[in-house]
Amino acid sequence: MNLILLGPPGAGKGTQAQRLVARHGLVQLSTGDMLRAAVADGTDLGRQAKTVMDRGELVSDDIMIGIISERLDAPDVRNGAIFDGFPRTVAQADALGELLTRRGETLDAVVEIRVDDGILIDRIEARARENEGASRDDDNAETLKKRLVVYHAQTAPLIDYYSERGKLRTVDGMASIDAVSDAIESALAPVSAS
Ligand code: AMP
Repeated sequence: MNLILLGPPGAGKGTQAQRLVARHGLVQLSTGDMLRAAVADGTDLGRQAKTVMDRGELVSDDIMIGIISERLDAPDVRNGAIFDGFPRTVAQADALGELLTRRGETLDAVVEIRVDDGILIDRIEARARENEGASRDDDNAETLKKRLVVYHAQTAPLIDYYSERGKLRTVDGMASIDAVSDAIESALAPVSAS
């Protein structure tokens, strides 16, 4: 099964992805985690990405598509993957469709975790307070707000993109973590049974 988790920063994609990993034995492909690993390793990619990430902007489509394309060749992705934080633009979505088709695979569903901006800004400010002086340089309130603007401009168009392709399932991301997981499981029931 191949799934995309779509949603703004602070919607809980990472938490829900981990639950899906535990329940379905899928691999979580978080492009944010991959970029943070490159930053920690001090690679050229990491150095380039850090500047962009700290500004709350998106790393270029070419770089991101290259990273995902390489990652999909690893043997652990055989049973499918949960894409967490990818695709973030229409160009990335087109490329992912091509990569999966080339591998003889399909995208089973896109789960949109929907959260109102007002609630996100509250969560963002709480998270920024918790993370003051902590490891993520992109976790301050100003950058997180920028990331929300970028989400609406560049990533939210994927909601219509996948809706038109019959892939979109939307869940209410304002419920508790457990209730969101249950809603995701119900939304995926027809897909995971097939
Ligand atoms: P995340 O952990 O998914 O919120 O990602 C953290 C940051 O990494 C984002 O704000 C972007 O700067 C960058 N990033 C992660 N995934 C992508 C992607 N698919 N395309 C472009 N930039 C990305």
